Amino acid sequence: NEKKLHHSEQLSVIGELAAGVAHEIRNPLTSIMGFLQLIDNDGHSTKMYKEIMASELDRINLIVNELLLLAKPKEYEYVPRNLLSLINTVVTIANTQAILHNIQIVTKFSDDIRHLLVNCEENKLKQVFLNLLKNAIEAMSKEGQITIEIRKKSDQYVIISFIDQGDGIPEEMLHNLGKRFYTTKDDGTGLGLMISMNIIREHKGELNITSKKGVGTKIDVSLPI
Ligand code: ADP
Ligand code: MG
Repeated sequence: NEKKLHHSEQLSVIGELAAGVAHEIRNPLTSIMGFLQLIDNDGHSTKMYKEIMASELDRINLIVNELLLLAKPKEYEYVPRNLLSLINTVVTIANTQAILHNIQIVTKFSDDIRHLLVNCEENKLKQVFLNLLKNAIEAMSKEGQITIEIRKKSDQYVIISFIDQGDGIPEEMLHNLGKRFYTTKDDGTGLGLMISMNIIREHKGELNITSKKGVGTKIDVSLPI
């Protein structure tokens, strides 16, 4: 189920997004205002109120940070980059988190991939791969392996698969993935996949998700070469 958006549809997506963001930010703001008033009236519980306010502010910060990345002016500058070294950089970053959870990230590729270039906006692609690895790590409640498989699909496309041994996604939930603010995590923003799908679309590629509850998830990113 591939989604392609035209320009006018993209504009309305942005409008919807803005409304959603305003809503999401208003909730923690209201909560902070409330606790500020309580602090005035009640000296005893100040410490707990401060902790709640700090965590609400963290949440606002998280949402705004992810959106800022998205809102940066689209001066996409496509440059040919070595895909493998780009992925290796991202794996190095993700490993700092993976190691803490006894998760190993393994990259598999054939020889023809070693010197493969993709025309891309490097930082945007890194952001996508990092989002996918972060999700994979967060989906794994116990130790295990995340596999990144890179292979050519044809002379025109390369496919990068991110395969995890995480909790998987129930079939009836799959259609929610990539919708803004859809998250199943207490501290999630539900923006990572949406942003990633947008970036891959800008690169004229595709992002496909297959998953089995209790087995794991595979995300295929295909990009033109
Ligand atoms: P967030 O990570 O902040 O929740 P995302 O947009 O990155 O937001 O992901 C949205 C939701 O999709 C997650 O909350 C999770 O339920 C589901 N999801 C994404 N990737 C995976 C994965 N690899 N395994 C299981 N569920 C996933
Ligand atoms: Mg995420």
